[in-house]
Amino acid sequence: MRIILVGPPGAGKGTQAKLLSQYLHVPQLCTGDMLRSAVEADTPVGRLVKGIMAAGTLVSDEVIVTIVSGRLKDEDCQGGFILDGFPRTVEQAIALHDMLRQEQQKIDFVIELQVNEDLLINRIRARASQAQAAGNSVRTDDNQETLKQRLLEYHGKLLSVLEYYKAQHLLTTIDGMQSISAVTDKIRDIVKYA
Ligand code: AMP
Repeated sequence: MRIILVGPPGAGKGTQAKLLSQYLHVPQLCTGDMLRSAVEADTPVGRLVKGIMAAGTLVSDEVIVTIVSGRLKDEDCQGGFILDGFPRTVEQAIALHDMLRQEQQKIDFVIELQVNEDLLINRIRARASQAQAAGNSVRTDDNQETLKQRLLEYHGKLLSVLEYYKAQHLLTTIDGMQSISAVTDKIRDIVKYA
């Protein structure tokens, strides 16, 4: 089962992707986490994307497509995956389609979590203060200014990605403002029709 989870920062994508990954026994591929690990490990890619991520803008399609296509070739991805944070542009969506087509594979579902912006801002604030309280480092992009930039990027580019998948009848939109378990139930309802 190959699934894309889509939603603005703070929509609960990461939480749901993790739960769905455990439920379906397929890996969760979170491009934000992959990039953060590269930054932490101070790899050449990490050095390239550090400033871009801190500013809340998008890493180039070329860089992210190279990372994702490498990861999709791994053995554990052959039975399926949950993509979280990718594709973010139509170019990335087309590149993903081409990668999968080479392996006679395709995306089964694109699930969008819809959440209003005030709630998002509160959630991101809570994530930053929880991390601080737990003594963990706060994500450099979890602050008001960067969040605005990330939401702008989201609305600017992702709408066309959603249109792209809608045209292919792959898109299902669910209300991401319900409880975590209610959202999980909705997602499971969608994927059980595979
Ligand atoms: P996220 O954790 O998904 O909010 O991603 C954090 C940051 O990583 C984003 O603000 C971007 O700078 C970068 N990023 C993650 N995924 C992508 C992607 N598919 N395309 C471009 N940039 C990305």
